[in-house]
Amino acid sequence: MERIWIAGPCAAESREQILTTASQLVTSSQEAGIELSFFRAGAWKMRSAPDGFTGAGEEALPWLQEVQNTHHIPVCVEVMNAKQVELCANYDIRTVWVGARTGVNPIEVQRIADAVKHSDFTVMVKNPIIPDLKLWMGNIDRFLQAGIQKVMAVHRGFTDAQENVYRNAPVWQLPIELKVQMPELPILCDPSHLSGHAQWVPELAQVAMTYGFNGLMVECHCCPEKALSDQKQQITPKEWAVMIAKLDLRSSTTDISLVQQRSILENIDNQLSELLYQRMVTADEIGRIKRQQHIAVVQPQQWQQVVKRYQKHTDDAEYQEFINKFLELLHQSSIKRQN
Ligand code: PEP
Ligand code: MN
Repeated sequence: MERIWIAGPCAAESREQILTTASQLVTSSQEAGIELSFFRAGAWKMRSAPDGFTGAGEEALPWLQEVQNTHHIPVCVEVMNAKQVELCANYDIRTVWVGARTGVNPIEVQRIADAVKHSDFTVMVKNPIIPDLKLWMGNIDRFLQAGIQKVMAVHRGFTDAQENVYRNAPVWQLPIELKVQMPELPILCDPSHLSGHAQWVPELAQVAMTYGFNGLMVECHCCPEKALSDQKQQITPKEWAVMIAKLDLRSSTTDISLVQQRSILENIDNQLSELLYQRMVTADEIGRIKRQQHIAVVQPQQWQQVVKRYQKHTDDAEYQEFINKFLELLHQSSIKRQN
């Protein structure tokens, strides 16, 4: 499975910060033998507080174009509206993502989808801040229906009212269910916005890889302590390369849908073991009543009913053979206990 590694600062702050971070990422990835798939940076930033740094805006786009031209690495930018798509195209930036906040506004997402319609843009769709799989899938569908060939999803966690260890609580069932519903769609993880803290980025990155995600989007800054946004969660390019190189990557046979099916199986096994135990306890009780009332242990008609119950699900011959053996064991065990 080819992995998608995306790294770069939360926000484009200055030409120097962008060019330094990009060249450090290129050097570190070469040293670690990793291929950086995309360089990321936000030109426009949606901030919670009104006095937060809202990004360099259009001014940042030529800096990013410079990264693309110098290092031949595609650059990606968050877009919040159709106008920003047009501006990106003017600077030859053809990979964009829809952020978690924009994701809760389907009208705006549709406008963005209309703006990229039938183009060669690559579009990443982050999960909306609320854990609503239908909304996330709907947003993805808007781009697929607009004829975009390269669409990817990004799990960046969900905002809730709880005090969590992580900044945005990961709800792994959602991207897993998304993978089950859209198996062809690459799903990335953004451990930076999930964790909110540089210290936890590697462990969440590993969880995502263990689940079989297709790649990561990680916030990296040449000087995280000076970052103008998301300061606590950014790591240096060197730390990024060390982290990626250390990841335990699972083979492509361990994809998310396999993990999902295994967890269903685990659940079934737990139920089965509980039910078999309950069955044995009940059979013991029946044995007690039979003893008390002098009723014969073996009741052939009764047992035929049991066999019928098990055979009704399928006429698959191999399965029937298995069920017959299983029932034989079950019956023998019951008789033995009742004796
Ligand atoms: C970002 O990637 O910089 C960003 C703002 O992400 P999110 O939309 O996930 O909060
Ligand atoms: Mn950020």
